[in-house]
Amino acid sequence: MNPDHPVTLDLDNQSNHQEERPDKPEEACGVFGIYAPGEDVAKLTYFGLYALQHRGQESAGIATFAGDEVHLHKDMGLVSQVFNESVLSQLPGTIGVGHTRYSTTGSSRKVNAQPAVVNTRLGKIALAHNGNLVNTVKLREELVKDSINLVTTTDSEMIAYAIAQQINAGSDWLDGAIQAFHRCQGAFSLVIGTPVGVMGVRDPNGIRPLVIGTYGENPVRYVLASETCGLDIIGADYLRDVEPGEVVWITETGLASYHWSQQPEKKLCVFEMIYFARPDSLMHNETLYSYRMRLGRRLARESPVDADIVFGVPDSGIPAAIGYSQASGVTYAEGLIKNRYVGRTFIQPTQAMRESGIKMKLNPLKDVLTGKRVIIIDDSIVRGTTSRKLVKALRDAGAVEVHMLISSPPVTHPCFYGIDTDTQDQLIAARMSVQEIANQLEVDSLAYLSWEGMLEETRENTNNFCSACFTGNYPVAIPEQVKRSKLMLEKATV
Ligand code: SF4
Repeated sequence: MNPDHPVTLDLDNQSNHQEERPDKPEEACGVFGIYAPGEDVAKLTYFGLYALQHRGQESAGIATFAGDEVHLHKDMGLVSQVFNESVLSQLPGTIGVGHTRYSTTGSSRKVNAQPAVVNTRLGKIALAHNGNLVNTVKLREELVKDSINLVTTTDSEMIAYAIAQQINAGSDWLDGAIQAFHRCQGAFSLVIGTPVGVMGVRDPNGIRPLVIGTYGENPVRYVLASETCGLDIIGADYLRDVEPGEVVWITETGLASYHWSQQPEKKLCVFEMIYFARPDSLMHNETLYSYRMRLGRRLARESPVDADIVFGVPDSGIPAAIGYSQASGVTYAEGLIKNRYVGRTFIQPTQAMRESGIKMKLNPLKDVLTGKRVIIIDDSIVRGTTSRKLVKALRDAGAVEVHMLISSPPVTHPCFYGIDTDTQDQLIAARMSVQEIANQLEVDSLAYLSWEGMLEETRENTNNFCSACFTGNYPVAIPEQVKRSKLMLEKATV
C-alpha cells in the first residue's frame, strides 16, 4: 500500500459506509498448505498467501508445525503488513498452513483471523477455511452441548472443533476429519495441518476451488492452494484439483486420496471464473484470462453496439473488452487508468472530498474519451453505486455516448457459500429491470451476458457450476432461518 498519489474518487474505495463499499461481490478467503521437510515452509507459505491476497484483505495468518509444536502468527491487515522476515523466522517447521481472510461470517476482528488452532488428544490442528457453512446453527448447538467453548464467531472454528470432537472420541486424524466433514453443509475448501501431515479437502460440490501442486524433486513435496497462482509464485507445478468430496492426506509417505462423500456433484462457483480468481490462474486446463476473453466475444455476438472504442473496467473487465473488440471490430482502447499503487487504505476521504469527485483508483483518459461513443465492459454489477459514478466520470471526461456491457447475467440473489453479495434488497438487479438499471446508471444502453452464454463459454458441462446468485437455484439447500437473513425480496422480473 503506497498512498503516494494525492487522494483524487472512490470508484472502488473501502469505506465502511454502505454506499461507499466496493460495488463487487467480495471473496471470502484464500488458503495454502505445504508439507516440505528441509524447506523454509513459513516463507513458502508467505509467498503462497501473497499470490492469494486478492481473495481476502482483512487478515492473514500462518501456522507451522515442528513436530508436536505449533507456531502461529496472525493479525489484521495485508499479508505484507502482517509478516516480515523477523516474524517468519519465528515460524519453524516442516508443515505450513496459511490463510487470507475477508469476513463473510464472524465480524472483522483479530480473534477471527485464521488458521484456527485447536487441541485434540492426538495433538493440535490448524485449520484454514475458504467457504461458508449453511448449517452453523445446528453445528454450534452440537458443539456447545459437548461443553466446547467457542471463542470466535466463525464457522471455521466450528469445523476445527468438530474434527477435535471426533478425534477425542477415539478416531484417528483422517477418520476424525472425515466424520466431521459429514457434519458440515455448505461450501468448504479446507487446509488442515497436524503434527504428522496436512490435509486438503473440498465439500461434495466443490463450490470453492482447491488445487494440488508439486514442489521440488527427489523428494517431491506437495502443496495445496486455493488457486494455481499460489503455486506459480513458489515455482510449484500444478498437479490437479482436489476433487469435490475428496480429501488428500499428505504425510511423509506421500499423498493419499480418499473420496469421503458418496454423492459428489460438481458445482464450482461460476463467479470464481468470471471475477474472483486471478486471470492467470488455471481452471479446466486454461487460464481464466482465456475464459473471460470468450465472454467478451460472446457479448459481441449477443449485444452488438455501434461505438468508436471499447475498454474494460480495470482489471477484471479488460479480458472481456479485448474479446469484444476482436469479435466486433470495435477499436480496443484504454479509457481508464488504474492507480496500481493504491492498496487497501484505512484513511478515508472526507465527505466533502467525496462530493468534489475525489478519484482514488480509476482515472478516465480525457484524450482517449473526448468526442467518442464508448463501450465500457465490467464483469458484474452488484449495487450499482460504483457504476453510476463511473459513467458520470466518463461523460465528464468527454465521452458522447456511454454503453455499458456486463460479462455476466444480472445478480438477483445473495450468496450463502462464502461470497459477500449483500442481502437481496441491496442487489440492484433484484429490484429493477435492465432498462430501469440503465436509467439509474444514466447510460445510453445496458446489456448483460446471457446465463446460457456464461455457462456455455466454460466449455464444460453446464450443470457443473453453481450459478445461484443469477437464478436462485442453490445447489446446497439453505435452511429457512439462514435464508430469511438475506432473501428479503422476491426475485424481480428482468
Ligand atoms: S451463489 Fe453465486 S457467488 Fe455464491 S457460490 Fe454460487 S455462483 Fe458463486
